[in-house]
Amino acid sequence: MSTVDLGIPTIRPQYASPSSNLRGTQSFPEAARGELDDETLRGNLSHATSTIQSKRASAVREVRDWQKLRNAGSALKWQVTDHLPELLEQLEESVTAAGGVVHWARDGDEAGEIVTRLALERGAEEILKVKSMATQEIALDETLEHAGIRTIESDLAELIVQLAGDTPSHILVPAIHRNRAEIREIFLRAMPDLDPSITDEPAELADAARRFLREKFLDMPGSVAISGANFAVADTGTLVIVESEGNGRMCLTLPRTLISVVGIEKIIPSFQDLEVFLQLLPRSSTGERMNPYTTLFTGVTPGDGPEEFHLVLLDNGRSAVLEDPEGRSALHCIRCSACLNVCPVYTRTGGHAYGSTYPGPIGAILSPQMTGMHGPDDPNTSLPYASSLCGACYDVCPVKIDIPKILVHLRAEEVDQRRETKGEFRGTWDVAMKGASTLMSSPGAYDKAVRAAGPLSKVLRGKNIGKVPGAVPLVPGWTDHRDLPKPGQSFRSWWDAREKDDDAPTRGEEQA
Ligand code: SF4
Repeated sequence: MSTVDLGIPTIRPQYASPSSNLRGTQSFPEAARGELDDETLRGNLSHATSTIQSKRASAVREVRDWQKLRNAGSALKWQVTDHLPELLEQLEESVTAAGGVVHWARDGDEAGEIVTRLALERGAEEILKVKSMATQEIALDETLEHAGIRTIESDLAELIVQLAGDTPSHILVPAIHRNRAEIREIFLRAMPDLDPSITDEPAELADAARRFLREKFLDMPGSVAISGANFAVADTGTLVIVESEGNGRMCLTLPRTLISVVGIEKIIPSFQDLEVFLQLLPRSSTGERMNPYTTLFTGVTPGDGPEEFHLVLLDNGRSAVLEDPEGRSALHCIRCSACLNVCPVYTRTGGHAYGSTYPGPIGAILSPQMTGMHGPDDPNTSLPYASSLCGACYDVCPVKIDIPKILVHLRAEEVDQRRETKGEFRGTWDVAMKGASTLMSSPGAYDKAVRAAGPLSKVLRGKNIGKVPGAVPLVPGWTDHRDLPKPGQSFRSWWDAREKDDDAPTRGEEQA
């Protein structure tokens, strides 16, 4: 790997630490099989994603210059990618000038050590967290637990996931795989003081969570809270968090010490750039014109909010993503989750099948780049194939990340890796593709092959071939889930017949 200068300190690009929650234990197809068999999960997912999707579509339709906004968001993100070292230095200066302390973490392990040390020095026993994917990514809860510190999620959906001993399955709605009845059961198990007559009405469930959290807010031994950030503004040192419930704001203002763990890609150049992202994000994520709670904080102010502010800037594989010119735009993601809700693969399998904190189309390009793809047995090697390449993710992405193009790029990288280790023609696919290439390069040979398929169509009955036996290479996996149509008359033989007989029916008529 070459060296990428990320400001202070200069570091070699490196993959995420192995302890990160970025890689599952099974390949995507294996993990997805179990999820696909779960009818409740599929029902919950289908209902939730279609509802969010249609809300997003109407919120976007109202904005006449939506495409211009997308262009502006994309251009700003490219500016960040191109000037990341300088912007990071500027952010450090701004935060320090505002009374904060900046820490640099090369990976999840370093970030965990920094946060644990800060928390122990302040005598924290319980820490409140505001929704943060970065801390989920680096398994911070587990690290703190080893040090005897308990974390409590303040976001309702994250709290549900935590109380259930579960992991998030959606970027925006981490408990999307749970329905109201399941949430009621989880609360009854985890909240001993809860009235058992509680119903599964959303208002009652939200009220139960509010009471549970309020007690925690008022009794925070050590008074430390941890947050992530949606954006970190380089020229002012301001951090921005958007959320829907207001619990995050309590978490950001009540404690004596606030520690924010933020990925280095969350930076934006100037305060004014927020006007673009604060329009793009809510419409793309929750389908709202603006977020109910947008909290901005800059360093510390005596008598107002936390007395101490620590910013932990996290690499954990981001420099490895940045090193690849073809794949680096994955870092532009603003975690709106629009690509998940439209993806025909995600909407059926859900997020757990991806094995990473980052599910869906963005996870399929981000996780393998952050961890590297280490051979055919690495679960993350299968992620770039978890897509039909339909392009819906690109169409909805507010910062125009060309996810299908990066998926194809990563697939090519995986094939090259395989060839390097196992020789050029390792499997039946390689042999078949080589054969197809030879055939399609020769019009004569292609013509003969296509004409040879003609007699086959007369022997077979019905419109479809049906399930092909396992002994036939390549095709059986395909026919497990789809109908393989019977070959019809080839275009060339139809054309020949037409030339011979001007009165012959047209091709469409004949087939009808
Ligand atoms: S890739 Fe684009 S659409 Fe998907 S979560 Fe990120 S910003 Fe949203």
